[in-house]
Amino acid sequence: MPNSAARRTTNHTGRLILTPYDATAAPDSAALIAALTHCQLIGAPLSFSMIPELRKFTIGEQFFTLLSFTGCAVNIATTGSNSFCHVDLPPLAKTPILYTGRNTRPPRCPYCRSRVIDWQERFYSALNRPLLTVQCPQCAMLAPLIQWEWKQQGGCGRRIIIIEEVFPHEATPSDELLTQLQASSGERWRYFYMQD
Ligand SMILES: [Zn+2]
Repeated sequence: MPNSAARRTTNHTGRLILTPYDATAAPDSAALIAALTHCQLIGAPLSFSMIPELRKFTIGEQFFTLLSFTGCAVNIATTGSNSFCHVDLPPLAKTPILYTGRNTRPPRCPYCRSRVIDWQERFYSALNRPLLTVQCPQCAMLAPLIQWEWKQQGGCGRRIIIIEEVFPHEATPSDELLTQLQASSGERWRYFYMQD
């Protein structure tokens, strides 16, 4: 997490990240953009002239239908300067990236449920293993890192869709959105929250 320390001073609200359950999956960007445009999660592309790839979008007409926001927490700026709500599809990563932030707590072992205190070292080194496995220091069982209990406070993947800025658990993807993503990619999707 090379950038998170530097950005920590900015008091980042948070982001909602969607990614396939299979952290190695690489669904096509154009197909996802077409599907998200069709269901109106996203609207017009935001133009950043130096960036050749289409990746940032305003929110679409159905944004607040496809994401469920918790009652009084809705305070989403849809236009404006730095922190307005938008959708970002970063370029596909060559290998799975582990996404954690200041809201991430030590994940629990899926077998014995103990928390791993030195989890960062263990989980980042798991990215170098073909099956992304982490060994539990308590019970010695091996499990792919995504099967650990993250409580939606972290995740891993090659293809992610980012919704900025969303406070953790303020917005939840609807079943319809998850279904649309699965239909356009052939992958089941999960989500989590990350604060720099
Ligand atoms: Zn264990």
